[in-house]
Amino acid sequence: MTCQNCAAARTDAHWPGYQAGCRACGVRALASSPAFFNAARAGELTPAYRAALQALLGEDWQVSHREVKAEYARLQSLKKGG
Ligand SMILES: [Zn+2]
Repeated sequence: MTCQNCAAARTDAHWPGYQAGCRACGVRALASSPAFFNAARAGELTPAYRAALQALLGEDWQVSHREVKAEYARLQSLKKGG
């Protein structure tokens, strides 16, 4: 199954659409969320961010945190035009 929101977000870092039930969309939503921003700024997994990881992506937050970090890096480089 292809997700149209994920397809659009591959080339548009500011794409605002998210598909319910799509894991990649959940990862992307978290990578753009204030919870992730605050955790990144604090340099640690804040309770709010960890709770959001588990709520959206399942209990294994260490795996999903890696996915969110990778997606964040992808979005940043896309915004820079690279
Ligand atoms: Zn998706």
